[in-house]
Amino acid sequence: MSYVDEVIESVVAKNPAEPEFHQAVKEVLESLRPVIEANEEKYRKVALLERMVEPERQIKFRVPWVDDKGQAHVNTGYRVQFNSAIGPYKGGIRLHPSVNIGIIKFLGFEQVFKNSLTSLPIGGGKGGSDFDPKGKSDREIMAFCQSFMTELCKYIGADTDVPAGDIGTGAREIGFMFGQYKRIRGVYEGVLTGKGLSYGGSLARTEATGYGLLYLTQELLKLNGIDIAGKTACVSGSGNVAIYAIEKATQLGVKVLTCSDSNGWVYDPDGIDVAALKEIKEVNRARLTEYKKYRPNSEYHEGRGVWVVKADLALPCATQNELLLEDAKALVENGCTAVCEGANMPTTLEATKYLQEHGVIFAPGKAANAGGVATSALEMSQNSERLSWTFDEVDAKLKNIMINITHNMVDAAKRYGHEGDYVMGANIAGFEKVADAMMAQGIC
Ligand code: NDP
Repeated sequence: MSYVDEVIESVVAKNPAEPEFHQAVKEVLESLRPVIEANEEKYRKVALLERMVEPERQIKFRVPWVDDKGQAHVNTGYRVQFNSAIGPYKGGIRLHPSVNIGIIKFLGFEQVFKNSLTSLPIGGGKGGSDFDPKGKSDREIMAFCQSFMTELCKYIGADTDVPAGDIGTGAREIGFMFGQYKRIRGVYEGVLTGKGLSYGGSLARTEATGYGLLYLTQELLKLNGIDIAGKTACVSGSGNVAIYAIEKATQLGVKVLTCSDSNGWVYDPDGIDVAALKEIKEVNRARLTEYKKYRPNSEYHEGRGVWVVKADLALPCATQNELLLEDAKALVENGCTAVCEGANMPTTLEATKYLQEHGVIFAPGKAANAGGVATSALEMSQNSERLSWTFDEVDAKLKNIMINITHNMVDAAKRYGHEGDYVMGANIAGFEKVADAMMAQGIC
């Protein structure tokens, strides 16, 4: 059996009931085959792949908190510190009822390669809890965040592990967590990113993942001889990534026809109104059913359905496994040119394969959504310097990083004779640096 197959088999056996983690490991290792096979003896000897798929540390803890009626609740908190070969662990905190150890491990594993792709010195980690922030008062959110950080603060620090936001964790939650860290540890340091501007946050961090997605999409289309201006797009999600992807797409001359949340989706033939979407989601924290009040010409549909709308580009920006094989078929049927992932692993393995086999340009999230973590690393630099850069400075650096990622991904695929396979390109480009650092640091 090949080294890659052996490691995949052992991951499935050793980590039962973690399908998302299996999926992420399979996707990465399968696409690394040409590199692994060229170095098999060397890598086997030092158990490189076995070490890469085993997190350095997994922390699981109790998070008790009290609601507004005086009732106590208990959630489970997680932090997976996956790989620190190239820098302190870095990765977001997800607050969603679906969170379990397998999901956090899949996200942490992906994060290792994504962070490496940015060319910045950051290792990979991820955390979260099965807490559901929906419908909770500000005080309840604060109670949860303080309890979560009371335990987490023992394991993180500006030079060891620097969490950030993710699904369910935005500026409000980061603020509560930062306050609690400072109170318990007694240090004022850049231990979290995605902070508010008044206490060490970076301009353009809020916009970074969505903007970065569009910078990469624009560059990738350009390399394929296509101008992004004048194209149409379907976007899923209506959270942080989706909102700023829609904003930047619109600025670049793309008409975005859809967005969604976990209840339903909106079709707006005139192009999604970003100001309305921000007011609904960021200010009122309401549902997308409200959108029609702002745009009477739009349609609201219950359930899922974004990918059946005819458009040139598809930008999944909600969650994992939201673009299925049947959706990929609909996209191909409708002549979609490119799928670029704003979310982490939104496209299933079968759907990805189908899109690639049918000539759709496919940019994996690991590369396409790396703008968020890259800008988090820029926030860390500003915190270390005790300086703040302007919006334009950060945005220019972000754009530069995304353009470099695009070229590294394209070139790595070419180097191994798989031109146009950007999943392979991103995985190889991310892997090479981590593998090199791990080999240099000995068996650890
Ligand atoms: P938000 O919580 O801001 O928004 C998530 C959006 O996706 C919401 O519209 C939400 O709808 C929808 N959604 C979440 N879960 C589901 C589900 N199970 N089914 C259908 N819709 C769902 O999160 P972000 O925008 O920050 O994150 C979106 C994706 O991007 C995630 O995969 C995240 O890991 C990834 N990402 C985020 C980065 C960041 O900087 N924020 C960086 C890199 C990747 P509802 O409100 O109804 O729950």
